[in-house]
Amino acid sequence: MNSIAIFCGSKIGNDTIFVQTAQQAGRLIAEQGKTLVYGGGCSGLMGVVADSALDAGGKVIGVIPEALVDRELAHPRLTELHVVQNMHERKTKMSELADGFIALPGGAGTLEEIFEQWTWAQLGIHLKPCAFLNAGGFYDPLITMINNTVQQGFTYSRFADTLLVSDKIETLLSKFEQYQPPQPKWGVKEVTP
Ligand code: AMP
Repeated sequence: MNSIAIFCGSKIGNDTIFVQTAQQAGRLIAEQGKTLVYGGGCSGLMGVVADSALDAGGKVIGVIPEALVDRELAHPRLTELHVVQNMHERKTKMSELADGFIALPGGAGTLEEIFEQWTWAQLGIHLKPCAFLNAGGFYDPLITMINNTVQQGFTYSRFADTLLVSDKIETLLSKFEQYQPPQPKWGVKEVTP
């Protein structure tokens, strides 16, 4: 597992644990010699995770839509910055570049991005792991909701079981190394994004 995509808020949130966890994530990804793939901005937790990985000597690749270069302040010292046409291209590019996906705390954009990758894993579009870095229990209500979709017969339990959750980045990175993808819904590569 050489490169890890992080999805996270374009704001830093209200609890200092979110910034601390983003710093730990960026640093550990770099220290393990992995490449960080992220949204390419300076704002919020996105900037924190990128700065932390760069400060630890890591390689960081940003993928940002043209329209957000100014609004999310494209990061000036990334190893690589891909400026793409739109949000769809951003997510497709990040999906291609990364070997696994982690959501830190964030808003609707973060949720959309990790859910898209998780649904692509269910459809067999890729076989890569998805995870929630559950800083301060931020994702507890969402995990409850996901379990509810299983209990109510809308999600196969094997897909919920392979969605990794921990409040420690080291735990997630080590689980990524042992990850066994679930059997996709309809077979591998029969569906394109
Ligand atoms: P948020 O969690 O809402 O602060 O958003 C985090 C990141 O997700 C920001 O870089 C947003 O530009 C990005 N984002 C928001 N919506 C989308 C989307 N539909 N596709 C791709 N990225 C998005």
